[in-house]
Amino acid sequence: MIDVILKKGKEKAVLHRHPWVFSGAIEGVKGKPANGDIVRLVDSKGGFMAYGFYNDQSRVALRLLEWNENVEVNESWFREKVTVAVASRNSILVDGVTNTCRLIFSESDYLPGLIVDKYAGHLAVQVLTSGIENMMLVIIDELQQLLNPESIFDKSDASSRGHEGLETVNTALTLAHPPERVEVKENGITYNINIAEGQKSGFYCDQRDNRKIVASYAKGKKVLDCFSYTGGFTLNSLQNGAASVTSVDSSVLAIDTLKENIALNHLNGLQATAIVSDVNKQLRKFKDEGETFDIVVLDPPKYAPSRSALDKAARAYKDLNRMGMLLLNPGGLLATFSCSGAMNMETFKQVLAWAALDAGKQVQFIHQFCQPEDHPVRSSFPEGEYLKGLLCRVF
Ligand code: SAH
Repeated sequence: MIDVILKKGKEKAVLHRHPWVFSGAIEGVKGKPANGDIVRLVDSKGGFMAYGFYNDQSRVALRLLEWNENVEVNESWFREKVTVAVASRNSILVDGVTNTCRLIFSESDYLPGLIVDKYAGHLAVQVLTSGIENMMLVIIDELQQLLNPESIFDKSDASSRGHEGLETVNTALTLAHPPERVEVKENGITYNINIAEGQKSGFYCDQRDNRKIVASYAKGKKVLDCFSYTGGFTLNSLQNGAASVTSVDSSVLAIDTLKENIALNHLNGLQATAIVSDVNKQLRKFKDEGETFDIVVLDPPKYAPSRSALDKAARAYKDLNRMGMLLLNPGGLLATFSCSGAMNMETFKQVLAWAALDAGKQVQFIHQFCQPEDHPVRSSFPEGEYLKGLLCRVF
């Protein structure tokens, strides 16, 4: 196995079991590993530190896997990690209630670059590192043995693949192609999923718990669900007896699916209005028309893809939330989210405080939202934490 030598003074993060080693922290390489090979990371005196995937195309040149020198990182090592991750989701998957979740969440499940989502009997995978790509035959075999899925679809069209010098993929990995429509259940609500065409891997299962919490306030209320996608917050609110729900998303496909989902769940379509529009424009329109709501949900896409984009993103979050607050009846609830990893909870609260000042409103934070247990945050990898939200009472 090839040795990669770490620069002196760069040991701390590795010793703390952070799984990334940036190219700038590498002193040299004894040999010529291919991208995706497993190498030994050694300190400047040649002492073993960890095993990891190598990739000289990526800013993250090493993705560390194992810190125990005596443990061989072989096929069974990967099979075990897959097995443990899949088993740890058992409590989420309840017959007749929930049959969709994230089974493997990359670094947070000790498999850097592998994401696996379950959609009823189908799986969608994203392969974001060359190291995982090399192990895919073993990983797929293990998934097949564990779950016997009807199909496994590769949704690796994420831009991060480019950083590893990998091509974009969007194909079935098993003989069977997933059907155009797959019906899944989450907290007893049925959703149509288009695995091949949908956003991300087809469904935002990271909001499962938060949809339920928001909906618990919805009985008899007038709800506005912004960035609704296929209706996660909308359907839960209708199910919980909302007086009306207005859903806004810029994607025609998302809104069409949302309407299908309302019918699929036999919910009252008369209480639902679905609008294809830019949220910022639509909020201004509601303001001009004097429209108000009891609950406003704001679940925008990632505004800050990196730390350097944070300032600009903070302004966008502030403007969006200010508008949301202005549309609330006194004492109404704003359920607001950020899925930008670069924006932490402290900064998000600050952004909400600015928005409240600008809107001339008083805000109480009454609940903090986070990502659910199938998107675990590994203590040595804080970068895995990305989804946060606040439930605000607005006066
Ligand atoms: N709340 C959803 C997930 C939202 S994902 C759920 O529970 O499933 C973000 C959504 O924002 C996507 O559906 C995307 O189409 C939409 N979107 C992105 N930019 C938008 C904009 N400017 N106006 C309206 N919708 C937008």
